Amino acid sequence: MTDTGSVRKLVIVGGGTAGWIAAAAFARLLGQRLEIELVESEAIGTVGVGEATIPQIIRLNAILGLDENEFLKATSGTFKLGIEFVDWGSKGSRYLHTFGDTGMNLGNVAFHHYWRRSTFAEPAPDPKGLWHYSLHQLAADQARFGKLDRVGNTAMTGLAYAYHFDASRYALFLRTYAESRGVTRTEGIVESVQRDGESGDITAITLKGGKRVAGDFFIDCTGFRSLLLGGELGVAYEDWSQWLPCDRALAVPSERLPTIVPYTRATAKDAGWQWRIPLQHRTGNGHVYSSGFVSDEDAADTLLAGLDTKPLGDPRPIRFTTGRRAAFWAQNCAAIGLSSGFLEPLESTSIHLIQSHVSRLIQLFPRSADAGAMREEYNRRCAAEFAQIRDFLILHYHRTDREDTEFWRYCKHMAVPDSLTHKLELFAASGRVGRDVDDLFRDASWVQVMLGQGVMPADYDPMADQPGDAQLTEFLANLRTIIERGVASLPTHEEYLARHCPAA
Ligand code: FAD
Repeated sequence: MTDTGSVRKLVIVGGGTAGWIAAAAFARLLGQRLEIELVESEAIGTVGVGEATIPQIIRLNAILGLDENEFLKATSGTFKLGIEFVDWGSKGSRYLHTFGDTGMNLGNVAFHHYWRRSTFAEPAPDPKGLWHYSLHQLAADQARFGKLDRVGNTAMTGLAYAYHFDASRYALFLRTYAESRGVTRTEGIVESVQRDGESGDITAITLKGGKRVAGDFFIDCTGFRSLLLGGELGVAYEDWSQWLPCDRALAVPSERLPTIVPYTRATAKDAGWQWRIPLQHRTGNGHVYSSGFVSDEDAADTLLAGLDTKPLGDPRPIRFTTGRRAAFWAQNCAAIGLSSGFLEPLESTSIHLIQSHVSRLIQLFPRSADAGAMREEYNRRCAAEFAQIRDFLILHYHRTDREDTEFWRYCKHMAVPDSLTHKLELFAASGRVGRDVDDLFRDASWVQVMLGQGVMPADYDPMADQPGDAQLTEFLANLRTIIERGVASLPTHEEYLARHCPAA
């Protein structure tokens, strides 16, 4: 293969979580081929939030070859078994969207069908009954964490998990990793962008003070500014706020929780929701809200009133518009992170999107400037992923009994994408999940959020009629005992952290 006109120099603009994940992964996987330079500005800084993840991050860590304990020590991290949703489907309700399966599948039939069968004779069965068979729920209730290959002698796997970590420590950790693998970091503010008159490709950026950084391919990680893709290349933004109307957040750290629980909490508020992320040294908190339904002052009061521990500063405002760029890669520039679009943080999907975009870009990375087919494929797959996550998020707002505020009335009665309507109808009728093959969220996630939000399926899979009634009752009773024993064998989350990965 000849290298004429080849892509040799990669320039990453921006050094937040997106920039440093991109730098670390490219250095690890294409570092022998590419010269990599990252430009960032301390004066501009980063968005400074983004501390809860989903289990796919474990794959990123494995690709980078990171040691879990070292990683958690350096980032003051904790384990996360899921997200507890409080007051969403109705006021006073709560459920945990866990990262693991509930119960144990029998043959090819998902467990929730057996559970639904067991409730069939009840006049008003409670959708939350499913969680009596959740290993993750019980571990979360008792603030326990540990690694189990199997639960008892069953085929049930142990706890599926992700992490919470300090966003600024995480970026620093990845920066050290990337720099030690040859990435050059340049400090400076980008002032202008130069392009080739013929092809329109970006050829260089010029920093305040005149330094010029040239490259063959550019990754725009400049956050909401989207300096290259949105700004220079003029790629339009698709606004999705008619479905996801929250457009502002206030973030504030507070003292650490008395017990460091292994889950994120998302509590619905009058015009949005509040997050609580437990770290080893402090707690991350924020109120995500819709400025059309509540004032900034009232939103700040709501945030502070909802803290479980003493605040460690004043609430910091952040503005955003949910949606995405019409293209994620244009010319010789791909945008990754907030510069490519933003789906609000309800299911902690943004860092995952960074990681999946980085790995997709690496898989499709062009050898030369002639990249049309790769660009098209990249844009197609990123667009599908964004739409699937969007539908999953809308489900939380739309499938609610709440009508107590204008915001919730709007969410409950808004028109939603047809793709989501179909999923809701299918689940309500049959307990089946109409998930797309490459959907990020597994069947178990859709089932938990549907039930958690109050959708009780009218029927179950006829294959679940298989065991007799007595056999089913015995199976379910045994399962509960096995889960209780499994959880009792685990250390507390805090014991696990202290033993394996205390914050540095
Ligand atoms: P930024 O952190 O904003 O970084 C942008 C970089 O570009 C900075 O280094 C900046 O200095 C640089 N830059 C900008 N302009 C210039 C210029 N002119 N010259 C030079 N450099 C420049 N994600 C999750 O996965 N989980 C969560 O729990 C979560 N919570 C969130 C809560 C809120 C309220 C918000 C808004 C986001 C949340 N996210 C979450 C998303 C997450 O914060 C981001 O995906 C992540 O931090 C990546 O940001 P970024 O690197 O794209 O942008």
